[in-house]
Amino acid sequence: LNRRLAEFGTTVFAEMSALALRTGSINLGQGFPDTDGPEEVREAAVRALRDGRGNQYPPGPGVPELRTAIAEHQHRRYGLTFDPDTEVLVTAGATEAIAATLLALLEPGDEVVALEPYYDSYAACIAMAGAARVPVTLRPDPEQARFRLDLDELRDAVTDRTRLLLINTPHNPTGTVLTREELTAVAELAVERDLLVVTDEVYEHLVFDGAEHVPLATLPGMRERTVTIGSAGKTFSFTGWKVGWVTASPGLVSAVRSAKQFLTYVSSGPFQYAVAEALALPDTYFDAFRTDMLAKRDLLAAGLTEAGFAVYRPAGTYFITTDIRPLGESDGYAFCRSLPERAGVVAIPNAVFYDHREAGAPFVRFAFCKQKTVLEEATERLRSLT
Ligand code: PMP
Ligand code: GLN
Repeated sequence: LNRRLAEFGTTVFAEMSALALRTGSINLGQGFPDTDGPEEVREAAVRALRDGRGNQYPPGPGVPELRTAIAEHQHRRYGLTFDPDTEVLVTAGATEAIAATLLALLEPGDEVVALEPYYDSYAACIAMAGAARVPVTLRPDPEQARFRLDLDELRDAVTDRTRLLLINTPHNPTGTVLTREELTAVAELAVERDLLVVTDEVYEHLVFDGAEHVPLATLPGMRERTVTIGSAGKTFSFTGWKVGWVTASPGLVSAVRSAKQFLTYVSSGPFQYAVAEALALPDTYFDAFRTDMLAKRDLLAAGLTEAGFAVYRPAGTYFITTDIRPLGESDGYAFCRSLPERAGVVAIPNAVFYDHREAGAPFVRFAFCKQKTVLEEATERLRSLT
């Protein structure tokens, strides 16, 4: 393994899911739903397979039906207009979108300012591009039960070598939804310092309690300098399909496509047709999905609180970040390693998403994209901790 990747080892998700299997624990670690997405979308995939649509290499940028559906979805939800032919690219999940974007846009030695804690593939992809990450730590605000962005810290992180800002909202793992004010400040900084912005918005449909998902590309000056990343895995509960996308101006999309063509060349065909149908589902689907997840959030948040955790109630995503210090614990990694034996539950230590490990040490993430009975059983088990 080369020096660029050596520090990363095995992803925490693989490690913790293997631990769950080995110990027969309830897996609230890796974020994947335990029920599949809509029947009619599965049927659409079967139809595509059977009708021979996408069984051979589809077009590199993605099948036109899906590119059009992505553009229409952005227009319907946010009033953003993207040309399906030049401003949309289908990728093998958001993971490939992140990799292709960073490999396409970064020069060796460039700096990337990213919010910390960050989704684990960001650091690895920045490293593969030979660039350097400059983390800006989201600060816990126990009073508001939220992690927030310190705009002065963000500003101070930008140097003459900064090439781009890497943003994620709704934010994994903290569940923070950046506010319009916070995002406006990000946008102003990007314009002032002439930076590109890559924004991972895979949880765009999972926002609660009246929080608003504000796509960065909708803010003044941002349409031309923003690469927006989305995924069908999260919105339609098909994480195994690996269908994601990028929307951006033609020059940026063309750059990302240059990298993508040598990573996967094209993305899996039949699923693209099915996701095109999924994106056209009526708003009732998206509303029902969010309402269902909201009930699960409340169930798990109440259970974790009862079990003695301090809960950062997420305004978005399907993750809850907790602070384990009220349980008399301080090392999230050690806690997560011992949790299967102590309570038969698996969670993720947030520290793995930090460069400043000590800042993330007491935080542990639980996923609530699971059936109600599973969440009830998990919280019952966790009550044995105290
Ligand atoms: N970004 C974030 C913030 C995520 O949480 C995930 C997956 N959990 C991804 C990207 C990757 O998405 P995909 O499965 O579509 O590759
Ligand atoms: N994004 C999911 C999570 O944060 C898992 C993705 C993965 O396993 N790489 O849990």
